[in-house]
Amino acid sequence: MTSQEVRTRFLDFFKGKQHKIVSSAPMVIKDDPTLMFTNAGMNQFKEFFLGNSVSSSKRVADTQKCLRVSGKHNDLDEVGKDTYHHTMFEMLGNWSFGDYFKKEAIQWAWELLTDVYKIDKDSLYVSVFEGSDDADNLEMDQEAFDLWKAIVPEDRIIMGDKKDNFWEMGDQGPCGPCSEIHVDIRSKEEKTKVPGASLVNQDHPQVVEIWNLVFMQYNRKANGSLENLPEKHVDTGMGFERLCMVLQGVQSNYDTDIFMPLIREIEVITGHKYGNSEEVDIAIRVVADHVRAVAFAIADGQLPSNSGAGYVIRRILRRAIRYGFTFLGTKKPFIYRLVKVLSSTMGNAFPELKTQYQLIENVIKEEENSFLSTLEQGLVLLESVVKTSKTKTIDGRKAFELYDTFGFPIDLTALILEEKGYGLDMEGFEKALQVQKDRSRSASEVSKEDWTVLSDDSTQEFVGYDALEADVKLVKYRKVSSKKEGDQYQLVFNLTPFYAEGGGQVGDKGYLKAPNGDVVYVVDTKRENNEIVHFSENLPKDVSGTFKAVVDKKQRWRTASNHTATHLLHQALREVLGDHVEQKGSAVHSKYLRFDFSHFSKMTVEELRQVENFVNARIEGQLPLEENRNMPLKEALGQGAMALFGEKYGDTVRTVRFGQSIELCGGTHVKNTADIWHFKIVSEGAVAAGIRRIEAITSDAVKEFYFNNNRMLFEIKDLLNNAQDPVKAVEGLRDENAALRKQVEQLLKDKAKGLKNELMGEMEELNGIQFLAKKVDLDAAGIKDLAFEMGGQISNLFLLLGAEKDEKAILSCYISKDLVSNKGLNAGQIVRELGKFIQGGGGGQPFFATAGGKNPKGIEDALKQAREIVVS
Ligand code: ATP
Ligand code: MG
Repeated sequence: MTSQEVRTRFLDFFKGKQHKIVSSAPMVIKDDPTLMFTNAGMNQFKEFFLGNSVSSSKRVADTQKCLRVSGKHNDLDEVGKDTYHHTMFEMLGNWSFGDYFKKEAIQWAWELLTDVYKIDKDSLYVSVFEGSDDADNLEMDQEAFDLWKAIVPEDRIIMGDKKDNFWEMGDQGPCGPCSEIHVDIRSKEEKTKVPGASLVNQDHPQVVEIWNLVFMQYNRKANGSLENLPEKHVDTGMGFERLCMVLQGVQSNYDTDIFMPLIREIEVITGHKYGNSEEVDIAIRVVADHVRAVAFAIADGQLPSNSGAGYVIRRILRRAIRYGFTFLGTKKPFIYRLVKVLSSTMGNAFPELKTQYQLIENVIKEEENSFLSTLEQGLVLLESVVKTSKTKTIDGRKAFELYDTFGFPIDLTALILEEKGYGLDMEGFEKALQVQKDRSRSASEVSKEDWTVLSDDSTQEFVGYDALEADVKLVKYRKVSSKKEGDQYQLVFNLTPFYAEGGGQVGDKGYLKAPNGDVVYVVDTKRENNEIVHFSENLPKDVSGTFKAVVDKKQRWRTASNHTATHLLHQALREVLGDHVEQKGSAVHSKYLRFDFSHFSKMTVEELRQVENFVNARIEGQLPLEENRNMPLKEALGQGAMALFGEKYGDTVRTVRFGQSIELCGGTHVKNTADIWHFKIVSEGAVAAGIRRIEAITSDAVKEFYFNNNRMLFEIKDLLNNAQDPVKAVEGLRDENAALRKQVEQLLKDKAKGLKNELMGEMEELNGIQFLAKKVDLDAAGIKDLAFEMGGQISNLFLLLGAEKDEKAILSCYISKDLVSNKGLNAGQIVRELGKFIQGGGGGQPFFATAGGKNPKGIEDALKQAREIVVS
């Protein structure tokens, strides 16, 4: 059965059980401070489990792109070494939100595996939660046990502890006991030798967990305690790649049709065969796995970068580059060449891989190039560390420096040192690393109290599209503390006019006014999961009662102007540059806007001018805002609305239209483009391979921009004695300056000539040598010119010139080549000797050499000494 069929059958099966099939949420999470990447199918439904929102369908099924490389679920170090853990994998899941529970979940799972997929019943094992006698004090899951007992023989039911059979998403959030299904794919012979039951949950590569049925019934609170959820839910997750391994009768996920095309391509590119050596195999698996994670992340809008989620992606890619570098001998970028195969094998299920193919390739290639050169630099540095080391063990702090400043991986350092017969002081490295970690952790650590809940009103309506003021009630609040921000309060209201940061737009600021007149400032507004959270520095004295919530009007207007201008800019870029332009990120602030987009060359001045004109024409055109807050997604896309990759859209969306510009957007906008006043681009540049960035300003900021320019012009005019035409005046100054420069040069030349003539007249004949030692007023270059010119005219010249500049001394000695060979004189030796007088040193060639020193007073003595040298 092909992997495509496996996926379709899963979804069809649950469709037949009245499940709604939904699409995968983005792999990169943007609005949940507790999670960077989707690590399980349930993430996108967390709010339904917690009862914060209600799902329109009680039964749902999907395949979800997951990434387990950070936080509670981190498989990164295992990936490639084993055959069944990936960084990015697909999780097939079915869900019940307060609808069916254990009975149906268990029966359907069994039916699908044994009836539809026809997996041999005798190769399956199931596990049940045995309870815990720790602080949670949980009972054994008798219900699940009884349900399984009706289906499978009791010796195939394995009791599991909290680690394996109590599922938690993270340190907080929904959780509950689970029942896993494991499959034994060993040969018949092996099965008779060692019973499968003894290998379940023992990290055996052929007895692996494929499906986890989680029965959600608790919420883990910040203080560590469990509370019952308002309703009971089902959350299941089946590893798609593992299922394919079982159904395709192979022994490793990598032997399925999901990975084989990638592996074949790696073989072709690197010339290494898969299946001959463990080291090479691991490297090939690492590369085949990691290219998927990175490609999907980029398609989701997450580019590799130096912080946060982008840094995690960069590290994954670097891990692949490093394995290639060390074990596959790839010294040139090659991973980007796999993107083509990937997009042709997975592009049907995930079309974003096809549409973003070019970008993904470019970004990966650039990352490879830059990391490979880092590796090379690192190797050179490592070489010098080894050379200068007095012992056979390299200092851990040195290795840390390499790691910290060059991103040179420590295991590679260790490996290379080993090859050279050196050891590494790992302890010293770990210590240095720990010091750095502690430093950054204490700066970023945030402690959060549990919410104090005042009412169970969970409407949370956002009324800020229409109003900038509203009467609100506090629903809950909590204190959060961090070193960076200090103590802050987070406030949630029943409704709010404050826009929460999202879609690139910053959150609103403003204030709350209590009935008694007290004012509390709102410094920011952010969305956390589905809640709009207001940040303030203090708490109202009396938290009950009705507050007047007031948004900072001016900031909102500036931000709205920038947001609308961003839409117009997007439209303009597609018009001027072409349809390949796609939004790759945007930041809408009150003071400026930033827009990143795909395009492959620097924009010309003419293109920038056209874009600016296009936007300003629409501002002058006074286009009204036409918004539809409730349009079916299909209809909106049908109207040509711009949707973004990596964004999760619901069934109905909000559309924002100004003339021909129409976008799916939740942000706040001006009522009419005329409100923007004017649009001005302030910079254009590259941010990554194939991605450009424009920064622009509107409204007040443009006014300020022109005001400042104007003031500068006045200052310039003032400096030019109020010239009528400052441009002409500056041109005049420029020409005059050039003419003066020429004159000065000529004068200097004349002076040098004069000096030369003067010196020629002062020559003294000593022992058949034309001798002169004198202090002159020239710099080193002038002295050299002069000496060589005189040397050209006199064939037995000994010249020593001294000069003083900025309290420093120089001595230059010129000796004709004839004298060097006939009399054994050596200018290099002589200046070294005379250098003593000026407290310095120097050197050069036998016929010309220079010394510098810090004692100009010694020049006279040096000149006298030169005579001694020639006379003697
Ligand atoms: P394991 O113990 O094998 O790491 P898990 O207990 O971490 O699995 P769950 O969190 O229950 O797994 O996830 C549900 C299913 O997703 C698993 O049954 C498995 O089939 C699959 N799965 C989990 N982690 C990975 C991974 N890193 N790569 C591929 N599939 C995975
Ligand atoms: Mg795991």
